[in-house]
Amino acid sequence: MIIVLFGPPGSGKGTQAKALMDKLSVPQLSTGDMLREAISQGKPIGVKAKGLMDMGQLVPDALIIDLIQEKMKAPDCKNGFLLDGFPRTVSQAVALDQMLKKQSRKIDHVISFQVPKDKLVKRLTGRLVCSACGTSYHELTKPVTKQGVCDKCGGKLIKRKDDEANVVEARLDTFQEETMPVEGYYQKQGMLRTIDATGSEREVSDKIMGLLQ
Ligand code: AMP
Repeated sequence: MIIVLFGPPGSGKGTQAKALMDKLSVPQLSTGDMLREAISQGKPIGVKAKGLMDMGQLVPDALIIDLIQEKMKAPDCKNGFLLDGFPRTVSQAVALDQMLKKQSRKIDHVISFQVPKDKLVKRLTGRLVCSACGTSYHELTKPVTKQGVCDKCGGKLIKRKDDEANVVEARLDTFQEETMPVEGYYQKQGMLRTIDATGSEREVSDKIMGLLQ
């Protein structure tokens, strides 16, 4: 099953992808995670992407398309995958359709996460992420038991640089300007399903499972 999780930064795509991975037995392909990994490993693509990411801007389509194309070919994607943070431009969406067509595959579902802007800002500026397993927490609404330590795996919690208030604003503007047209692209194809993603992780996950059935 191939599912596109679409929505602004902070709408919970990553969190839901992690829950869905277990339920559907398909991997999460997060272009944001791939770029952060490339940065931490000092890879050329990471070097090119870092400055743009730190400013809340998008990384060029050609780099992202190469990155995702390679991952999609991996054996663990044989039965499908969950796209988290890709496509973020209409050009990326078109490239995705072409890549899938070549493999005689197609997207099964596009789920758009709806969250009002004030909530997104609160979620992102208070977010803490486990540097080892990627689980997200929140300073106020989802605190950890032991400060700075992931409840799940004991990994070190970090605050993403692009979760600082000024970068959050830039990321949300970028979403409106460059990524929102992707919603129209899928709507025209009759594929778009929207969900209210303001509830608890469990509530949102139940809504998604309802849509998939
Ligand atoms: P995310 O972890 O999905 O919030 O992504 C973090 C940052 O990585 C974004 O603000 C962009 O700078 C970059 N990025 C992630 N995915 C893409 C994409 N599909 N296209 C362009 N830039 C991306």
